[in-house]
Amino acid sequence: MSFKKSDELKITEPKKVAVGFPAIASVGYRIWEETYVGRGVKTMFKLNQVKGYDCPSCAWPDPDPSERSLIAEYCENGAKAVAWEASKETIGAEFFAENSIKELLTKSNYWLEKQGRLNSPMYLPQGGTHYQTVTWEKAFEIAAHELNKLNDPDEAIFYTSGRASNEAAFCYQLFVRQFGTNNLPDCSNMCHEATGVALSETTGIGKASVKLDDISQTDLLLIFGQNPGTNAPRMLTELQKLKQNGGKIIAVNPMPETGFMGFKHPQKPWEWVGDGTPLQDLYLQVKINGDLALVKAILVLLYRKQKIDASIFDEAFISKHSTGYSEFLAQLANADYDDLVQQSGIAVAEIEKAAAYIIDAKKIIIAWAMGITQHTNGEDTIREFVNLLLVKGSIAKPGAGTLPVRGHSNVQGDRTMGIWEKSPESFLSSLEKAFDFKAPREHGVTAVEAVEHLVAKKSKVFVGLGGNFVHAAPDTSLVEQAMNDADFTMHIATKLNRSHVVHGKSALILPCLGRTEIDETSKGKQFITTEDTAGRVRMSMGDLTPVAPNLKSEVAIVCGIAAATLKEKQKCLGIIFQ
Ligand code: SF4
Repeated sequence: MSFKKSDELKITEPKKVAVGFPAIASVGYRIWEETYVGRGVKTMFKLNQVKGYDCPSCAWPDPDPSERSLIAEYCENGAKAVAWEASKETIGAEFFAENSIKELLTKSNYWLEKQGRLNSPMYLPQGGTHYQTVTWEKAFEIAAHELNKLNDPDEAIFYTSGRASNEAAFCYQLFVRQFGTNNLPDCSNMCHEATGVALSETTGIGKASVKLDDISQTDLLLIFGQNPGTNAPRMLTELQKLKQNGGKIIAVNPMPETGFMGFKHPQKPWEWVGDGTPLQDLYLQVKINGDLALVKAILVLLYRKQKIDASIFDEAFISKHSTGYSEFLAQLANADYDDLVQQSGIAVAEIEKAAAYIIDAKKIIIAWAMGITQHTNGEDTIREFVNLLLVKGSIAKPGAGTLPVRGHSNVQGDRTMGIWEKSPESFLSSLEKAFDFKAPREHGVTAVEAVEHLVAKKSKVFVGLGGNFVHAAPDTSLVEQAMNDADFTMHIATKLNRSHVVHGKSALILPCLGRTEIDETSKGKQFITTEDTAGRVRMSMGDLTPVAPNLKSEVAIVCGIAAATLKEKQKCLGIIFQ
């Protein structure tokens, strides 16, 4: 892979305003570049609409139907994602005959994905130099052969990317557990795992406790290690409403974020002139991973003030709804404030300003993302977030609570459906009862352990339900070696990516329908469901003619593999396949 020399890099002053007309222009350009304009415009009108499809780009919630924009209920990222999916290009037999694996390995991931949608099942036999087309029947047969020749089901790894629908995820975990393993790592292992652990332990629910409309109702929103303008741009709309309702925002991030400095609503042309709405009231440029020390320092300050004014902490709420308060106070009493300040990298005056905002606020929401969860102490930081909300009595009431902002559009739904290598006994025993089979109990591997198992040859098969594992997992060269060491790799995908050309001794790529496309079966038009970052489940129904006639839905592909692999052993998966 060759990179052009750095003299191509243009370094400019960081922008001070986000979105506005440039976002609209970018959407228009993307539609023109990626798909047929008619198809593209039709796609946009259905995006995030009630009778339309859920955006495949991130998990930001949609407003209530009555609040939704009928013109454009999406952001630039969402528009790019569906225009990219609605691509006018497809690749199949001809493309792979012209491009050997060796040649494809020299291409960037951007180039691979840019070639267009996969239009046929592709198989790379052992020792082969080019992928070749196979029928679906043959593809399922190959998959079944590779899986059934394993000595132990734990020699196979079944990875899920957070874009898979609830229905595909449920069928996948049911198949995998009927196959006999809990090796169900997913992208959550690499993003919000710390959130799930810390919140389940502290609030009893491993997800957000707030709904979308709580955000604009809060007095104070603290956002740690998350950058809405880039990762969940529609969040900026809610932050603007929060400001218009008199709320305050504290942004905590080693990197300043343009969206917090100035936001121009794309659907309000009168806002396109001028500096936009400044969203952050206080920006704390914390040291990398200084968030835990910062929250602890703020708590120590509040504790000192509580000793003078007993109304700082909501002790009525604390005594009614929490445990461990005295131990918590003892920790604060013994904390080394100066050391915490030093670790946070924030000046005392700024910390005092933040504490003052917190004291004045009755309703507080704390939001975070991977700037918190991808640190080894991520769980501890999230526990302190919950402590801060508890002392302020700011959980489980309107305008108050936790808001972990998820990335992938259905990463939360997949976990709810059982995509977890450590699913609890309650889930496994209900599954057994419902589908009359013996579910494995031994915990499976996480995404990182999956790489270790492949390198150690403890696992020989890697299956990917969506995603681009070699790019998502840490330590790319080790992951690529792990893939090459595998006996067989199989991916269900819409477009070609690096994980398909860094393959096992033999490999399959199975092209699936996109979320924007019609999925018609003998039972009529199908829809899927997804779960957003606020825990709400929505229906998503494609309405575009599939970009190629030989595509199948994720659900049909999973069930096809299951029926071929489990044969008479399978329970309930065959029905869907017919
Ligand atoms: S905020 Fe996220 S879900 Fe919403 S349109 Fe943008 S990318 Fe899609």
